[in-house]
Amino acid sequence: MISKAIKVDLKNFNKTLNLLKQKGILNTKLKIIKGEEFAFIPIIDTINDYEIYEMDFEAYKKVKDYKGLVNIPKDLMKLLPTSYDRIGEVIILKLPEELYPYAETIGNALLNFHKNMKTVAIDLGVKGELRVRQLKVISGNGFFTIHKENGIRIAVNPADVYFSPRLSGERKRVMDKVYNGEIIIDMFCGAGPFSILIAKNKNVDIYAIDKNPSAIEYLKMSIKLNKINNIRPILGNVMDVMEELPFADRIIMDLPFYSINFIDLALRRSKRGTIIHLYIITDDVSSILKSLENRFFVIGQGVVHGYSPKEDMYFFDLEVK
Ligand code: SAM
Repeated sequence: MISKAIKVDLKNFNKTLNLLKQKGILNTKLKIIKGEEFAFIPIIDTINDYEIYEMDFEAYKKVKDYKGLVNIPKDLMKLLPTSYDRIGEVIILKLPEELYPYAETIGNALLNFHKNMKTVAIDLGVKGELRVRQLKVISGNGFFTIHKENGIRIAVNPADVYFSPRLSGERKRVMDKVYNGEIIIDMFCGAGPFSILIAKNKNVDIYAIDKNPSAIEYLKMSIKLNKINNIRPILGNVMDVMEELPFADRIIMDLPFYSINFIDLALRRSKRGTIIHLYIITDDVSSILKSLENRFFVIGQGVVHGYSPKEDMYFFDLEVK
């Protein structure tokens, strides 16, 4: 593509480039031509003190997504993941094994495409009682980050504590249901995104419990970041600490594989009318509903997101009878 240009000595290249950027006359759509001693920089307007050239430049290819920056065999391109999670400055993705030899190239492409991200890691699944995600870095470094959602800031290291940005809509749904004055127990709070969002928007008292020390550490950081004073972070096992808490108006139970095992414990801190937000991963909703109907009115129910070909993560909004 033909464009006006100036010729600069490479010694003055950076200074001149910055000047052109400041003046807004650098032609950012075209590639600069660099030789051994001189460079030709495409411009969109003339500039005093420089001889103006007219020459042919190659245009930058417009890339729609990171795939346009990945250099791997053509037949593997279709295996590249289209979606991935972004937690603050950290990208987490699932990669099919065929792409493992190209993991670094893929990670670099993602960092080049998302200039404000610092680390790309492969998700090797959530493990153990603390539900911590196993992550393998493929580009960049560092996991501690500040994630922003629904107007709050969450300090988190996704390699130390469970965190899923896919629940942001669900967290907002629950927050919208809360009334001022409530006493709330967040039984499995993780880094505390439910608690922080509610505390920031409602005049409530929240007891946020987790047995992972890192979770409570990040929650304390976020309390400061968001200038909140109505959350009490509690490090411990719910089995040991729940009995000391007051009766709650609302209880959040986000431990989707095991939460049902703690329902009796939640009932011990409930009264008639207490609302419980219960999360369960299952392929058999009717059995779950059957097990709940004696003790609760099911006032809401739905899918939060898919989990596996057969199972989904469901929310159940329960009112204690
Ligand atoms: N609600 C969090 C969020 O929105 O990001 C995520 C919670 S994560 C799915 C479940 C959490 O429960 C983990 O952080 C884990 O450490 C905690 N946990 C598991 N068993 C526990 C127990 N018996 N007592 C207290 N916390 C527990």
